[in-house]
Amino acid sequence: MSPTRQRKRVLVTGGAGFLGSHLCEKLLERGNEVLCVDNFFTGRRDNILQLLHHPHFELLRHDICQPLHVEVDEIYNLACPASPEHYQFDPVQTTRTCVLGALHVLSLAHRLKAKVLQASTSEVYGDPQVHPQTESYWGNVNPTGPRACYDEGKRCAETLFFDYYRQYGVEIKVARIFNTYGPRMLFNDGRVVSNFIIQALSGEPLTVYGDGSQTRSFCYVDDLIEGMLRLMTTANDFTGPVNLGNPVEMTMLELAQTVIEMTGSRSQLVFKPLPEDDPRQRMPDIGLALEKLAWNPAVALKDGLQKTIDHFEGLLGK
Ligand code: NAD
Ligand code: UDP
Repeated sequence: MSPTRQRKRVLVTGGAGFLGSHLCEKLLERGNEVLCVDNFFTGRRDNILQLLHHPHFELLRHDICQPLHVEVDEIYNLACPASPEHYQFDPVQTTRTCVLGALHVLSLAHRLKAKVLQASTSEVYGDPQVHPQTESYWGNVNPTGPRACYDEGKRCAETLFFDYYRQYGVEIKVARIFNTYGPRMLFNDGRVVSNFIIQALSGEPLTVYGDGSQTRSFCYVDDLIEGMLRLMTTANDFTGPVNLGNPVEMTMLELAQTVIEMTGSRSQLVFKPLPEDDPRQRMPDIGLALEKLAWNPAVALKDGLQKTIDHFEGLLGK
């Protein structure tokens, strides 16, 4: 830490996005200075509007595919579109962001002797053949399919993190984040929770892909951010990867019914083709997070969904 500074300065790449904006907020609440770096590909100023005048918040428009020269004490690397629709929009840029972005934050961490946390993903498990997924499972990823830009990009980023750790002694933390939802998900995000809620609130049919029997496990954003903050403060020798997610599995049909019930909507379901390589099932084993971080999600699905419904109702002016 610089001799003239009393607060830790924390860099959050992707800080204007859904998870990044919640993380910036929590870091400020805990007395840190925050440097938010974003190229606004899927991030929005609206997400951080309430932070722009905070005395300890700074915003830098920058693409992490380019090297970054700043002075910070800790780094959270979140920059990367997360919704399949957005990361498949420009797949080459997605891989560049994952791989070059990881290289640049790691080289920065190396120079500054700063701790760096990677927002990895359950997508590193691909369409998993082990269920629930433990960190020791190496995954089942199609390296040439439409999801590969993200899945393989994130896998390569993990490789770089572990090589910087072994080769240069950089202090790393790798979180494998499972589907997370909550206020500030983008309106046109394409992810299932935001799609279903907006469709239900607008009285439009809920678009169920495939027969809706595929499963996911949904974690509320506050829980997830708490897990990331705890991971950053674990002992130096704990690098992860560690799963962060809510181990309550449900089918997309069950989610659709729940959203319809909670919104009191009259929407029907409409079935659309299942996207290529869409994982059949997904649920984290969070035994390691429980043991190492004493972390366990606290927000029940219905409570988290209610907050998310309230958020979208506000946006729709309901
Ligand atoms: P998001 O799309 O809302 O946020 C990503 C942010 O990164 C945006 O603000 C975007 O503008 C920024 N960004 C993208 N490319 C960039 C680049 N080249 N340079 C600088 N900024 C760039 O997504 P999110 O849901 O907040 O996800 C944040 C991170 O968490 C991502 O790395 C994602 O892979 C990971 N993650 C999220 C989930 C989830 O369910 N939300 C699950 C697994 C992993
Ligand atoms: N999905 C759906 N309807 C939608 C959007 C998504 O049925 O309008 C399905 C999608 O096929 C997948 C699951 O919901 O099986 C989760 O999709 P999402 O894009 O939210 O995340 P990911 O596939 O990355 O887990």
